[in-house]
Amino acid sequence: MAHIRLNSLAFGAIACVLALAGPVAGQPKPAPAAPNAITTSLKAPVATDGEITVSSGKTVLSVMLATSLPLKLAVMSKPDRIVVDLPEVNFQLAPDLGRKPQGLIKSARFGLFAPGRSRIVIELTGPALPKAEVSPVLGGAAHKLDLTLDPVSAEAFQRAVQASAPLPDGKKAELPTVPQGDTRPLIVLDPGHGGIDNGATGVGQALEKDVVLVFARDLKAKLEATGKYRVVMTRDRDVFVSLGDRVKMAQKLGAALFISIHADTLSAAPSVRGFTVYTGSEKASDAEAARLAEAENLSDQIAGVDNEDESDEIAGILGDLTLRETRSYSHLFARTLVGQMSGGTKANKNPHRSARFRVLRAPDVPSVLLELGYLSSKTDAEMLKDPAWRDQTASTIAAAINTFMAPRLAAGEGQAKP
Ligand SMILES: [Zn+2]
Repeated sequence: MAHIRLNSLAFGAIACVLALAGPVAGQPKPAPAAPNAITTSLKAPVATDGEITVSSGKTVLSVMLATSLPLKLAVMSKPDRIVVDLPEVNFQLAPDLGRKPQGLIKSARFGLFAPGRSRIVIELTGPALPKAEVSPVLGGAAHKLDLTLDPVSAEAFQRAVQASAPLPDGKKAELPTVPQGDTRPLIVLDPGHGGIDNGATGVGQALEKDVVLVFARDLKAKLEATGKYRVVMTRDRDVFVSLGDRVKMAQKLGAALFISIHADTLSAAPSVRGFTVYTGSEKASDAEAARLAEAENLSDQIAGVDNEDESDEIAGILGDLTLRETRSYSHLFARTLVGQMSGGTKANKNPHRSARFRVLRAPDVPSVLLELGYLSSKTDAEMLKDPAWRDQTASTIAAAINTFMAPRLAAGEGQAKP
C-alpha cells in the first residue's frame, strides 16, 4: 500500500485507513505490558515500539500498529496541542515514552479516551504542525505511524487551530445503570483520572489511575456488602471521563454522597505521606491544597478536551443557598471520615483541607475528594499495593459512611439528604 500523507492544513475531515493485516511471525516485538493493561480491552489492536526522534528541526513520534486504523488529527491551543483520535488500541508502550520534553514535544500521552476510542495527545514546546504518514512494514504484517512535527510561526499555528475540525468531544460518558424501584441511598465512587489521563506516576512507575480504580472496586464491594446502599462508580475500567461528566453523573443519579478517590505525588518531598480529605471551596485552605486542585483540574486539558465551566451554570440555577447547605454536609462527612481514618492509617498534616476542585462542584451532592496517600512516598506506594491495607481502609471508610448516613437510614428516607 502506498504511503498516505495527511495535509497539515486539512485536519479533522481526513481519515486514513490502512490495509488490514493480521499478526504474523516477524511482527515487531511487543514491549513489556504497560501498567494500564489491566483494563484495556484485550481484543483491541496493539500499538507497540513507540519512539520519539529529533533531527534537523523536526520531531517525529513513531508507533507500530498491529492492524488497520483510521485516524483523525486536530490542532488545539491553550495549551498548544496536537490530538490524534483513533479507534480503541491497546497501547503497549514504554511507560516513560513522552514523559520528558524532546524536541517539539513537551509531553505525549496515550490512552483510552471514550468507550471504543483511543487518543494520543501531544503538548508542544512551540508552534508546530503535524504530518501523519502510515506505511506498511514487514511485508504488510504491521504498519508504522510516523507523526512528523514541523515548526511553524505562531500565526500559522493559530490559522491551523481555526481550520481544525473539532474532534468528537467524548462527553457522552454512559450513565451507570442503577436498579429501578430501589430507594436505598446512592453512593457514587469516583476513581480519579483514567484512560489517557494517567494521573500521578509514583514510586515503581505505579499509576494513580490504576491504584485508585483497584481501591474503588474494593470499597464498592465493602459498601454493597452492608446491604444499605446502591453503589456506582463513575468509571469501572481504564477510560477517560471528563470532570464535568463525573459531576453530572452524581447529580443525574441523585447521589446521596460523592467520593472522588485519588493518590497523588509530591515529588519535591518524598517523605511526606498520609491521607488527606478535601472539600470544595472558592478559597484554598493552604498553598498545597491550591496546587493539588490546580493539578487535578487539568484532567480535561490533558485529554485534549477544552475546559468549560459547566458546573458554574448549575450552581447559578440552584442558588447559593443549596450550595452552602450541601457544603456543610460535605464538611460534616469530611470530619467524620478524618476521625475514623485517623485511628487506623497515617494522616497527612492537616488532614482536612479545601480548595477549588472542579470535581467537587455539584451544588446539590455532598462531595469530598480523598487522597489515599502519596504515590511519591515509598511507604505509601507499597501500602496502597497491599490488599490487607486496602481491605482495612475500605472497612474504615465504609464505617464513616455508615455514621454519616445513619440519620437518613434511620428515617428510611428516599433521596433526601441525611
Ligand atoms: Zn489525582
